[in-house]
Amino acid sequence: MPAETQLFLCLKDNYGVLLHDPETGSTAAIDAPEAAPVDAALKDRGWRLTDILVTHHHADHTAGIAELKKKHLCRVVAPRKEAPKISDIDVTVREGDIVQVGSLVGRVIETPGHTAGHISYWFKQDKLAFVGDTLFSVGCGRIIEGTPEMMWNSLLKIRNLPADTQVFCGHEYTAANVHFALTVEPKNPALRARAEEVVRLTEQKRPTIPTTIQQEKSYNPFLRADLHSVAGAINMEGSAPVQVFATIRARKDKF
Ligand code: ZN
Ligand code: FE
Repeated sequence: MPAETQLFLCLKDNYGVLLHDPETGSTAAIDAPEAAPVDAALKDRGWRLTDILVTHHHADHTAGIAELKKKHLCRVVAPRKEAPKISDIDVTVREGDIVQVGSLVGRVIETPGHTAGHISYWFKQDKLAFVGDTLFSVGCGRIIEGTPEMMWNSLLKIRNLPADTQVFCGHEYTAANVHFALTVEPKNPALRARAEEVVRLTEQKRPTIPTTIQQEKSYNPFLRADLHSVAGAINMEGSAPVQVFATIRARKDKF
């Protein structure tokens, strides 16, 4: 049976998401920004929390873990490289490890850059990817602990997933990301269409995610840094893609 997901807002602009396996009843929370909205979403769907899959150590992704674990006795899966910074871990994972949520099979992809040990979870069969603060719709995470090279390589790993993969990210930043992206590629038709869609969704107070790999490839400037047109747009024709990426990321930091 295919996986089911439930997306909900936490804190100010964080997303919580539940991943449910109808076959076994298992349910994972991807990150735990705070306990109450996770509990509310579980209650809403009548699901029982069995696992928490952590993407990285930042408090806005981990602050709810202790309370949820105490209440649900769920298993906490977290990146091995960030284990000292995350509480209540049961299992640590690294590149290539398999993480099962009931009968759902996920694979760990190390996606460092935002933090040094950041990981993403890819459920191939269900065409789902949970990318935390590495990729956002029309944007990417700030490079806080890593280097532009690390982040660019992480984004390439995500970009290489099947085009129809549904992507869940850690924050609702899309509207601001669109404003910035339009300064890089003002004439990109896919981006302009996305801009209109985001205005509509925001007016309706609806989320702009999940997105897909195919969509992001068409309008996310950070996934397009190796296109001649994008290098040209910022007067960097002939520069290495990672340099173009680093420049776009630095511009966004100051935007
Ligand atoms: Zn973060
Ligand atoms: Fe975050």
